Amino acid sequence: MDNIIEVRNAVYEYTDGDQTHRAVDNVSFNIERGSFTVILGHNGSGKSTLAKMLNGLFKATDGEILVDGIDTKKEDTEIEVKRKVGMVFQNPDNQLVASIVEEDVAFGPENLGLEPTVIRQRVDDALKSVGMYEFRQSTPHHLSGGQKQRIAIAGIIAMEPECLILDEPTAMLDPVGRKEIIETLHKLNKEKGITVVLITHYMEEAENADRVMVMNDGVIIDDNTPKEIFKNVELLKSVGLSVPQTTELLYALKQNGFNVTTDVLSIEETADVIASALEEK
Ligand code: ADP
Ligand code: MG
Repeated sequence: MDNIIEVRNAVYEYTDGDQTHRAVDNVSFNIERGSFTVILGHNGSGKSTLAKMLNGLFKATDGEILVDGIDTKKEDTEIEVKRKVGMVFQNPDNQLVASIVEEDVAFGPENLGLEPTVIRQRVDDALKSVGMYEFRQSTPHHLSGGQKQRIAIAGIIAMEPECLILDEPTAMLDPVGRKEIIETLHKLNKEKGITVVLITHYMEEAENADRVMVMNDGVIIDDNTPKEIFKNVELLKSVGLSVPQTTELLYALKQNGFNVTTDVLSIEETADVIASALEEK
């Protein structure tokens, strides 16, 4: 298997005076090149700490993290690792630096010291790939949250990373903005082959992923396809994840003796599941 990221027995401990807090506790997994992975977990489960380890921002207290075979612990590999793995954070306002959209997207490639013609090309491509090309001359703060976050993603894409890690990129967005981001990520994954690691506490956002990892208290407690993960409503609820109302409804029906599955998410699929259960009765 071709892995872009390999995590082996990774530990991360925060030290505060004589107190140590283990935020990531002996975690091991691989991320396959070209895949779309969602890491689900409630607040404080260690997602952001893990994310920062995956692009070398945080060095593992113990264990090993390899990015494209490169050991992220080595000081002299930092730039190379960051070029391969781009990070997008929660708040788009903190990630936008320029007052014109295209200047903002150009910031990263400029720092890479690329030729102006190459920069121009990359900025245009990146803006098109997130569906924001027509806004290239706009002022970011006049845009919606979802649009601003897509500009932030374009800024990272313009540096042509192989992998994108997004740490709750939709947490500050309205439902429309959230949908725009998730669709954009799937498009980038399919059309550009960019490996996506999406961190979220919204279970709905895991629907079309290849794989879902559930994190709790610094540990990966489940790792499977979305369909398999969503069958286990009890587990998700037990780790404080909010289950979509459609799943909640199916779960309640199941507990009331209806023969329904809980592994569908869309309203249409839910309606179909209920309709066939009613026919059976
Ligand atoms: P998540 O992103 O899932 O909310 P974090 O990785 O931010 O989780 O935090 C994991 C745990 O580590 C939490 O218990 C949090 O309180 C703790 N933590 C996070 N940042 C620090 C820090 N700078 N110093 C000490 N503890 C921290
Ligand atoms: Mg976090």
